[in-house]
Amino acid sequence: LLDITTINEEKKKTEKKAYIDNLTKVFNRNKFDEIFNEEMRLSLMFDIPFSIAIIDIDKFKTFNDVYGHIIGDEVLYIMAQTVNSHVRESDTFARWGGEEFIILFKGTKIKQAEIISNKLRERISKNEHPTAGKITASFGVTEFLKEDSLKSIFKRCDNALYIAKDNGRNRVEVG
Ligand code: GH3
Ligand code: MG
Ligand code: MG
Repeated sequence: LLDITTINEEKKKTEKKAYIDNLTKVFNRNKFDEIFNEEMRLSLMFDIPFSIAIIDIDKFKTFNDVYGHIIGDEVLYIMAQTVNSHVRESDTFARWGGEEFIILFKGTKIKQAEIISNKLRERISKNEHPTAGKITASFGVTEFLKEDSLKSIFKRCDNALYIAKDNGRNRVEVG
C-alpha cells in the first residue's frame, strides 16, 4: 500500500512538472495549449466567447545587458508572479517562452479582456526590482472568432502587440 501511495505521489509530481515553467513557476505552454484546445472546442460547440492576450516585457534585453542574466531572471519571476496572483480564477496565465507570456480569458469578450489587461498592465508597472527598477510590459489582445485557427488568432494577437510596442510600450492594443 505504501508503495502504491509513493508511486501515485511521484506520478502527481511528474504531471505537475510537465505543466509548470521551471524559472517562473507559472504554467508553461503545454498547459496553455491544452486549455486553449478545450476552450476552442467549447466555444464552437456552445457559442461561448473567449479572448487571449500576449504579454511581452518592455526592453527586457536591457535588464540582461545592464544587470546580467540573474537579475533578468528575477525580473521574469517577479513579473510572472505578479500577473499570476492577479488574474481571475477562471483565466489561464502561462509563460509562452523567453520574456513572453499569454493569458486565456475564459468566457470573455474583447471589451472586458481589454479592461482586465489594462488593470494587469498597471499592476506590472507598479513593480520595482530592487536593482533593475521599474518593469513594464505591452499587451496584444484579441477575441476568438469562429473561423480562427490557432495560427490565425495568434497572428492577430501578435500584430496587436506589435502595434502596442510601436505606440510607445506599456500599452494594451486590441487586434
Ligand atoms: P521590446 O520592448 O521590443 O520587447 O524589447 P526587448 O528587449 O524586450 O525584446 P527582445 O526580443 O530584443 O529581447 C528579449 C530578450 O529576452 C532576449 C533574450 O536574451 C532574453 N531572454 C529570453 N529568455 C530569457 C530567460 O529565461 N532569462 C533571461 N535572463 N533572459 C531571457
Ligand atoms: Mg519578445
Ligand atoms: Mg520584450
